[in-house]
Amino acid sequence: MSDYSISAIGHIQSPYKQKFAIPRQPRLVPEAKAKLIFTSEFNREEFVRGIDEFTHIWLLFRFHETADKGFSAMVRPPRLGGNERKGVFATRATFRPNAIGMSAVKLEGIEYKNGQLSLLLAGIDLLDGTPIIDIKPYLPYSDAMQDASAGFADTRPETQMSVEFTPEVTSFIEQQTQYPDLLNFISNVLKQDPRPAYKKQKDGEQSYGMTLYDYNIRWQVNGEHNVVTSIEKS
Ligand code: SAM
Repeated sequence: MSDYSISAIGHIQSPYKQKFAIPRQPRLVPEAKAKLIFTSEFNREEFVRGIDEFTHIWLLFRFHETADKGFSAMVRPPRLGGNERKGVFATRATFRPNAIGMSAVKLEGIEYKNGQLSLLLAGIDLLDGTPIIDIKPYLPYSDAMQDASAGFADTRPETQMSVEFTPEVTSFIEQQTQYPDLLNFISNVLKQDPRPAYKKQKDGEQSYGMTLYDYNIRWQVNGEHNVVTSIEKS
């Protein structure tokens, strides 16, 4: 096997500060906005000239948080309840040879501010700090295949999860102005039911936490109902 040396062309600045609760594919939570910040070598407008003609782009990236944990030939896809195994190349699992990921995301703009070039993105499924190794425009005429089918992952994963916010949390969110979509963002993240498969099979109330942007958020799950019980600056 040949060895290649690949280095990042940029990094993602994402509201997702931990792996838990990140959607399992892009575009499931459209409120997830991020910036792709180019490294100094690629921090020039020429590298992206013309990209604004595309509504969506492919990001190729490194699963940097878990890359050192290696891979196995077979994995347990969460959408099969964590019980059935499939070959790693038949899945989008993070633990894979070379630890390379790909996500098609919405391109909302290009920013050049204080000498820093960035792409403004939405609907991402990436952890804060994810190294980006390449960008390519999404080509609907070729990339969108009308006759495609996808076996065990054929449909968008839907849950029946409902989300409620305590009055204190609602008023906290309404009072902050920095993230106008924060309520819908949290709600759509929780509707994906980020719990690991084995927890979904357990009865009784469960309590979870995540950090989005610089907010620590806690919620409780009972059956198919989530209640967001606290939010505070981290
Ligand atoms: N859309 C990509 C793909 O198909 O290659 C990623 C799919 S992977 C199943 C999505 C999960 O990767 C997220 O739910 C999150 O837990 C994890 N993830 C995102 N960024 C990561 C990173 N930089 N390092 C390790 N895991 C990451």
